[in-house]
Amino acid sequence: MTTHHSSLSYLDPSRPEPWASFIEQIDRVAPHLGPLSHWLETLKRPKRILIVDVPIVRDDGSIAHYEGYRVQHNLSRGPGKGGVRFHPAVTLNEVMALSGWMTVKNAALGLPYGGAKGGVRIDPRGFSRAELERITRRYTSEIGIVIGPDRDIPAPDVGTNEQTMAWMMDTYSVNVGHTASGVVTGKPIALGGSLGRQEATGRGVYLAAREAGLRMDVPIAGARVVIQGFGNVGGIAARIFRENGARVIALQDAEATIANPAGIDVPAALAHVASHGSLSDFPGAEPVSEDDFWQLECEYFVPAALEGQVTPARAYGLRTKIVVEGANGPTTPAADDILRDRYILVIPDVLANAGGVTVSYFEWVQDFSSFFWSEDEINARLESIMVKAFDAIWRTAQERRVSIRTAAFVIACQRVLAAREQRGLYP
Ligand code: NAD
Repeated sequence: MTTHHSSLSYLDPSRPEPWASFIEQIDRVAPHLGPLSHWLETLKRPKRILIVDVPIVRDDGSIAHYEGYRVQHNLSRGPGKGGVRFHPAVTLNEVMALSGWMTVKNAALGLPYGGAKGGVRIDPRGFSRAELERITRRYTSEIGIVIGPDRDIPAPDVGTNEQTMAWMMDTYSVNVGHTASGVVTGKPIALGGSLGRQEATGRGVYLAAREAGLRMDVPIAGARVVIQGFGNVGGIAARIFRENGARVIALQDAEATIANPAGIDVPAALAHVASHGSLSDFPGAEPVSEDDFWQLECEYFVPAALEGQVTPARAYGLRTKIVVEGANGPTTPAADDILRDRYILVIPDVLANAGGVTVSYFEWVQDFSSFFWSEDEINARLESIMVKAFDAIWRTAQERRVSIRTAAFVIACQRVLAAREQRGLYP
């Protein structure tokens, strides 16, 4: 497959294409699937790929075209579910991988969904709000032939937020002629969104870290935490780590890398980003080099930016006990092996960042029943699903002597492929 890249982060030859990483992760599961491995090829082929042209009139009157995607990787267990990314480096290859990870994540957590993902190759920072609205609406209308509350339900991802979801819900609703709040999750509360959704992914990252820490004897209280990415996932995870007594000693976003060995005041850093747009010039920490950032001694390292960040070279340098993957696909398979050999535990994306899609599921259920739950109820149910999934995956890893990632893939692939087998092939 040919793809072209507009981001320097992909020019590093030690970083495989995301879809190649996904395929390699699937291959690692094959020996653990018994007779179900017969169906494994299913997971190496997305069920449906839609590439759309997204033309808009720009504010200066010119017409511009952007490329958008919606990939439904697998629908054996239910409708598609997965976010929409607006980023200049979005490619079909990346969206395919992200959709595959959603299939695995939803099955590993036991949520009644298949896997899907979408994206538009734009840098959202380069557009006015009105232009972003037009891009979002046209993209939604173009993918309208495959999405829907019982077909495929998008949600926010990098570069999109609850406003994007409000526009998507409205566009889809106008096109079908009635309000269809269940077509997207991560909506504003006033439009049928769920309490706790916005912070659910970061909360889940924390819960996954806590569960790993309990088993590895690495208490959160007093732990040093380093986080790459300070957006929805990294920012909230940082806040909750700190609320539970951890010390966030370094942060990195797309513009800046900062550290403070005494611990960064996370609420102050969040306020700085809200007013200045990035961590640059945050007064409560010192700038550090990229190389130093990846070698800081800590108990928990949380990649929460983009895929392919933990390369083999960085895996050799990391001085942490536990890596908790807030981002999707941050660790390449080769880096995974190095971390294993160095006895650094990796809590994989498909488990660690599943809090977002879990509360998305709650949002979708609430929309269908038009009955809304309290935030305490949502957080309690999130914790119960995350802890149960963590426990099952951990036990599978011990029983089969495999990594936590492979264990999560084993459980997920068994569920997806058993559904495939029970449904049978048509015709
Ligand atoms: P976001 O846009 O809110 O934040 C992304 C953060 O990463 C920003 O701080 C940005 O500055 C930083 N960043 C971007 N490029 C970087 C680079 N090259 N180096 C360092 N930092 C960089 O996005 P998000 O929603 O927080 O998503 C982050 C990751 O988490 C993605 O991999 C996404 O797929 C995954 N994820 C998100 C959710 C969710 O609910 N939002 C759920 C599951 C997984």
